[in-house]
Amino acid sequence: AYSNFGNNRGKSAFFNDRGNANRGSELFSASNTGINFEKYDDIPVEATGQNCPHHIENFQDVDMGEIVMGNIGLSRYTRPTPVQKYAIPIVKSKRDLMACAQTGSGKTAAFLLPILSQIYCEGPGEALNAAKENGKYGRRKQYPISLVLAPTRELALQIYDEARKFSYRSRVRPCVVYGGADIGQQIRDLERGCHLLVATPGRLVDMIERGKIGLDYCNYLVLDEADRMLDMGFEPQIRRIVEQDTMPHKGIRQTMMFSATFPKEIQILARDFLEEYIFLAVGRVGSTSENITQKVVWVEESDKRSFLLDLLSATGETDSLTLVFVETKKGADALEDFLYREGYACTSIHGDRSQRDREEALSQFRSGKCPILVATAVAARGLDISNVKHVINFDLPSDIEEYVHRIGRTGRVGNLGLATSFFNDKNGNITKDLLDILVEAKQEVPSWLESLAYEHQHKSSNRGRSKRFSGGFGARDYRQTAAGGNAGGFGGRGGRNQAGHGGNRGFGGGGFGNFYTSDGYGGNYSHSQVDWWGN
Ligand code: AMP
Repeated sequence: AYSNFGNNRGKSAFFNDRGNANRGSELFSASNTGINFEKYDDIPVEATGQNCPHHIENFQDVDMGEIVMGNIGLSRYTRPTPVQKYAIPIVKSKRDLMACAQTGSGKTAAFLLPILSQIYCEGPGEALNAAKENGKYGRRKQYPISLVLAPTRELALQIYDEARKFSYRSRVRPCVVYGGADIGQQIRDLERGCHLLVATPGRLVDMIERGKIGLDYCNYLVLDEADRMLDMGFEPQIRRIVEQDTMPHKGIRQTMMFSATFPKEIQILARDFLEEYIFLAVGRVGSTSENITQKVVWVEESDKRSFLLDLLSATGETDSLTLVFVETKKGADALEDFLYREGYACTSIHGDRSQRDREEALSQFRSGKCPILVATAVAARGLDISNVKHVINFDLPSDIEEYVHRIGRTGRVGNLGLATSFFNDKNGNITKDLLDILVEAKQEVPSWLESLAYEHQHKSSNRGRSKRFSGGFGARDYRQTAAGGNAGGFGGRGGRNQAGHGGNRGFGGGGFGNFYTSDGYGGNYSHSQVDWWGN
């Protein structure tokens, strides 16, 4: 009877569920994102590669089985997002996939749904026997059928939460392991069974070395936010996991890579890990959309705190979330203390805070218990912090991409968002780019900013639009270019022209629907953290 994970006959699957009836309501209680996906229907997606399966328009267009379809319904996903329309049939037809898509595009469900659907259909196979055999000797090693690697604990937890939703009423048990938390507890959880494992690379290597995880039957491998994993220096661990252990080889396992950008390092990883893959480029919508009102105010360093208090008291509403960006960890702590002393319910998130503190801060913010979150850019990156009413740049970043990324946290839900930036002498280097953004998004431009930008232009000539790219995509399939076709000859900066070309071919959304990339796909990807919604 265990041959099929998705045993839907009668009610057996339901009654065999590990949880109880209440679990469903808890799992699916988080309100829907409220994102108006219909608005994003015209997001361009480009699929390249041989014999690419046709994309779908509705979840019903592909047979994912009763369990998956039921859980899509419970999650209140009415229609697939652009990346889901393409990725689901690609994964379902057992093809490898390299997708350039950002957080917020619905990429998690894009890989989880078809993977789980296949696991339900195929059952645990040899993995089950292996775990049983092993258990006889008291070793209790787990053999997950699917592995999802993610760069951070926060992202791993978000993926795990989605996996729990989509494995509801099935026998598939998802687990998550990440560093910075008690390993004993994670081991005990693994020992209760693990069919789908979400892991950060370092902690997984640890688990493998302790003999707690065997990848011998891992038929589905996902690398999520691959560029960030490389950015964070995880390549040796990733290669150790994928190439130097017992994982089935490429071509035998199915492999999916997701990355916001497609720089040289990622191209190499794709070449090494993927077999005849389909390349998906998912466009992104404009970030400085009309939904966001951007204000830039001149505030001297010494006046910043009192100005902030004025802003906060003007915001008033208790249920609206305010995100305050500061430059340094120390600055974050100091500002949090200050606001706390002034009687504001606030919390903070930065690199020096423990894993536990960060999770706690995030959930207090999301729930509205602490409606003010002070954050450094690095700590906030990649987190699904949305529904923010007001983004305040207490300290402006020095590059414009980071600015775009930050303000995109607001104005998401079809609601109006507000972004206020404190500007003073220290922010000279962003003047010109900031002015361009404001003009492009039809925002009010303070006259002092215009004059400053004018002065600045005369000082430095090589700025401004040079970084622009009008394709709307973060990257291109390098195999489509001459340089890419040349074995081992990764395109380097040649990619830039290719990327720019996209705009001419009409993939861009037009207006301010297009944003920055890194320097094409041959450039410095660490700065291209703009997500799919333009954040
Ligand atoms: P992700 O890009 O995977 O982080 O997803 C962003 C958010 O969109 C998550 O909160 C998902 O639960 C939500 N989401 C994903 N796909 C859909 C869909 N088809 N309909 C509605 N919400 C979705």
